[in-house]
Amino acid sequence: MKISVLGIGGTICMLKDSSGGVNPKLDAKMLVESIGLSEDIKIEAKTILSLPSPSLNYDNLLEVLKTAKEEIKNGSTGVVVTQGTDTLEESAFLLSLFWDEAAPLVITGAMKNPSEIGADGASNLYQAILVASNTNSLNRGVLCVFNHTIYQPRFIHKSNSFSLETFVSINGGNIGYIYEKDVIYISPIYKNKIYKTPNSLNKNVAIIPTCLDGDSMFLNNLSGFDGLVIDGFGAGHVSFIAARKLKELNLKIPCIITTRTGSGMSAYKTYAYEGSEMDMQKNGFIMGSFFDSLKARLFLTMLLSNGFSNNEIKKEFENYYKYF
Ligand code: ASP
Repeated sequence: MKISVLGIGGTICMLKDSSGGVNPKLDAKMLVESIGLSEDIKIEAKTILSLPSPSLNYDNLLEVLKTAKEEIKNGSTGVVVTQGTDTLEESAFLLSLFWDEAAPLVITGAMKNPSEIGADGASNLYQAILVASNTNSLNRGVLCVFNHTIYQPRFIHKSNSFSLETFVSINGGNIGYIYEKDVIYISPIYKNKIYKTPNSLNKNVAIIPTCLDGDSMFLNNLSGFDGLVIDGFGAGHVSFIAARKLKELNLKIPCIITTRTGSGMSAYKTYAYEGSEMDMQKNGFIMGSFFDSLKARLFLTMLLSNGFSNNEIKKEFENYYKYF
């Protein structure tokens, strides 16, 4: 059995240097060596990138996807990607839209760098390798492994800036655990809807927050964007002023309204006041369903890059979280 470990950066590979702080230093081979794997698994370790995850971009992730697929073609039965946790929920979700292999693609990282007491990187990497090499992981698409837990990209969220227990599943459960070196799935296989991988994800989608008395944000120039995500109040609402302003703009680009609450679904047919979901839908705005604003932005970018029309985009948003 051969597992590929692809390093792309993050705290898991960072060490203190003369700057006084930590920076990416360890390559993928060093990370693998640090866990002293005793299992009968051949590891192919490659460093693709060495970046803090806020500086990852779409091209980087398309490169990760391409390399991971090559590794499978070259005989690996699973792939592990090590990256920073700050954008892990976004890269995992984006990769999950394109990963069409039966073999698992497992993403992990660390909250504490290797020189800190209680560093979690080696343990997370070890667990990710166990998951990637387990036959029960087949046909489960992209998985995230952290702190003994297996997450689905569509639900994963980083919820704390320092805690080792930072990752949580929102609107859905964790799908498995790694205890006593065993990989234990507690849910059936969920089908992932797979989309064509575009040559580039060069669409510009903005996220606009909503906040009390924050209407001035909607007065900014919204030209130059291919799509918008408005992180709406409550079940996906905007203020009277924002609603008027947005309607006046007569936008031709798709505009998705999500909920800023952190969990739950946007409404479709409950509220009718100005700025509510019923009012905004009548004016061509698309409700975000179970997507948070970060995942909505990625999803919209992918749909636009694949040439989906506004009507098709509406349907994809409505149905994505109902696809099993
Ligand atoms: N800032 C780091 C990064 O996202 C944190 C981490 O690796 O978890 O790369």
